[in-house]
Amino acid sequence: MKRTKIADALRGELVSQEINIKGWVRTKRGNKAVNFIALNDGSTIHNIQIVADLAQFDAALMAQITTGACISVIGKLVESQGSGQSVEVQASAIEIYGTADPTTYPLQKKGHSLEFLREIAHLRPRTNTFGAIYRIRHHMAIAIHTFFHNKGYYYFHAPLITGSDCEGAGQMFQVTTLNQDCPPRTKEGEVDYRKDFFGRHTSLTVSGQLEGEMAAMAMGGIYTFGPTFRAENSNTPRHLAEFWMIEPEVAFLEIEENMDLAEEFIKYCVQWALDNCMDDISFLGDHFDKELVSRLQFVLEKPFVRLSYTEGIRILEEAVKNGTKFEFPIYWGADLASEHERYLVEEHFKTPVIMTDYPKEIKSFYMKLNEDGKTVRGMDVLFPKIGEIIGGSEREADYDKLVARAQEMGVPEKDIWWYLDSRRYGTAPHSGFGLGFERLLLFVTGMSNIRDVIPFPRTPNNAEF
Ligand code: ATP
Ligand code: MN
Repeated sequence: MKRTKIADALRGELVSQEINIKGWVRTKRGNKAVNFIALNDGSTIHNIQIVADLAQFDAALMAQITTGACISVIGKLVESQGSGQSVEVQASAIEIYGTADPTTYPLQKKGHSLEFLREIAHLRPRTNTFGAIYRIRHHMAIAIHTFFHNKGYYYFHAPLITGSDCEGAGQMFQVTTLNQDCPPRTKEGEVDYRKDFFGRHTSLTVSGQLEGEMAAMAMGGIYTFGPTFRAENSNTPRHLAEFWMIEPEVAFLEIEENMDLAEEFIKYCVQWALDNCMDDISFLGDHFDKELVSRLQFVLEKPFVRLSYTEGIRILEEAVKNGTKFEFPIYWGADLASEHERYLVEEHFKTPVIMTDYPKEIKSFYMKLNEDGKTVRGMDVLFPKIGEIIGGSEREADYDKLVARAQEMGVPEKDIWWYLDSRRYGTAPHSGFGLGFERLLLFVTGMSNIRDVIPFPRTPNNAEF
């Protein structure tokens, strides 16, 4: 018999038909005459109730049906007599695929802490919370592809292994097949990477941007969507060592339109979540963050505030004068910390902010230099609860200025000769940005730790699963 998913059965159209449901037992309760089994198969956050008349079933079989067991049930879908569900399945046959020893199965009942669930990341997809998060994660990925596809931007694949370590986006993980105990050495005694797998020193990428730009300068608009890696030892609730990034790069787009694109993109994703994930969002809102739904609706309503870095610093200095305490000092030239970003967004403007025109010293060499010679056309999108969710810029399109900036920032020309070629041959104004997928998910799910929005998080001292 063909399996029916629980999400489909719950829609009620199959009432009075015989169906086959397969899933994992969440709870079993009942009395001497009848058992009620709450079954979940991941197709929805809702369980379906299986009613088993004990006169029909072997007691030994029923005893094996405990929380966590996997079973297949054939039975008639009927309107439910009890409260709490509209339909239920009157079981006529039950097969056990796998039992789950109740003395060792760690997911008994509700109420496990998120910290505990991180220690059993291999089983946490079976909880309501993580089922909801991973379904939303899926829907957000579809939203992202749909958004760019509808704009005519191509999904472009940048490599994960890179020979350039010049992007200035954080420390990198080395990729090597050399023997770590006695690597080949040059005459000078340094490790001889010419003997390494790629004949050079290589790392896992921190961004697909540089390669993405090469595609934009031929295909018009592209986006990458893949994993990136940063070996920064930042043990924060917003940093992972392996995370997913979406990076559009678009030819003929200048900074203003880049901001428009970023704002339209995030709003599209949030609207998509409200339209397609309401069951899961409501569950997470009820359990973790009562203001989740209103916060999601709120960002859709108003335009994001657009603000220069210089203006932002002025507001923050004013705040300090009026008694606000920050951990890190604030002055023109300082890199903003998350506390500063969140002050602007949550206290001052009470709306997302797009900050632009940063001092060139704190940004990467490829950002377009402004006429003042001091600031670059970078733009960060700052969000409530999160801080920076997007970092982007108009790219320097002028060959000479780009070379000069690379020199200033200590990026060797020989490492970026191919990148510079895009400015040597048929250069054009272009822009792009990077959205951290898990930062978006933090916002959309209302979770507060980034380790809870990626299935198997990689952070310092943590790569068990
Ligand atoms: P931050 O200042 O928050 O460390 P960043 O300025 O180093 O971020 P970018 O290099 O601009 O980040 O990367 C683009 C986007 O990728 C960021 O806006 C953020 O959403 C996301 N991101 C960056 N680093 C991480 C990380 N370690 N874990 C998860 N997401 C990240
Ligand atoms: Mn950034």
